[in-house]
Amino acid sequence: MKILLLGKNGQVGWELQRALAPIAEVIALDRYGADGLCGDLADHAGLAATVHKVAPDVIVNAAAYTAVDKAESDEALAMMINATATGVLAREAAALDAWLIHYSTDYVFDGSGKARWQENSPTGPLSVYGRSKLAGEQAIECSGVKAIVLRTSWVYAARGNNFAKTMLRLARERDALSVVADQFGAPTGAELIADVTAQILRKVMHEQDARQLAGTYHLCAAGETSWHGFAQFVLAYASRQGVALKVSAEQIVAISTEAYPVPAPRPCNSRLAFEKLESTFNLKMPPWQHGVQRMLDEI
Ligand code: NDP
Repeated sequence: MKILLLGKNGQVGWELQRALAPIAEVIALDRYGADGLCGDLADHAGLAATVHKVAPDVIVNAAAYTAVDKAESDEALAMMINATATGVLAREAAALDAWLIHYSTDYVFDGSGKARWQENSPTGPLSVYGRSKLAGEQAIECSGVKAIVLRTSWVYAARGNNFAKTMLRLARERDALSVVADQFGAPTGAELIADVTAQILRKVMHEQDARQLAGTYHLCAAGETSWHGFAQFVLAYASRQGVALKVSAEQIVAISTEAYPVPAPRPCNSRLAFEKLESTFNLKMPPWQHGVQRMLDEI
């Protein structure tokens, strides 16, 4: 079995390189490609030729335009990467009868209410990024490819920058810290996303009637918090480990979304219901605190 992995150096892509290695031969590409293969989602002809040449059984697309605020003034590129390129991958995979595993986001929803979003809840993205990711989902659906679309939320990883690291740095440098307290979701580790993807692939590759597994699933850690709650958890844990901070968890000021203006509107309700994923693939999503704690120990 052969897997073509795109976006190998992103948060999720990096962890996928590890998690997919025991399952199959993995041809992993970043935007710069390798061995005459193109991994650039802006080069649609190159991408199609690469899929042809590799002839994978599965394409795992972890590449995306993820600069949420920048996308507001860069719509053409966000659409080109998140929607058009996804459509190219979907059509090429369909032509090979290969599977496509693709990641999407809570930003496809409008963030209203307090209920957890189901996979079939009405979408209504608030931002260019959200619209581009939804268009990617729609391109997959139109292509007729066998696909698993995994919508996730609030992704972090030990590698690279993340919200927790930023909070730790600010709490060491500053005398006060204000964090948004009216947006709710579940911080989800790239490790968890990659490990769940591997479990899904094992089932997809070995089940007789695997096509019935195709569809959209929500994949996030269990429980919920706000960005303020997330920051409090991080600082409290760091302080218990003896990290010297100028701002304690209790001193973080809770602010509203309006008090922290950014170019792209964020959904206030990012709660995703993941029971469909758990029951279909026999999984149990761990509480969000577990992964965050591991990541903090690691960094
Ligand atoms: P990252 O931003 O960490 O990684 C995205 C990767 O895509 C980067 O390696 C980036 O490469 C690559 N990329 C960007 N443009 C191109 C291009 N033109 N050609 C090839 N590669 C490109 O994202 P995550 O790992 O966090 O996200 C994985 C998936 O999860 C994405 O589909 C994202 O939309 C989704 N998601 C992410 C969330 C989050 O909070 N991060 C929340 C919900 C969903 P480079 O570094 O060279 O730019």
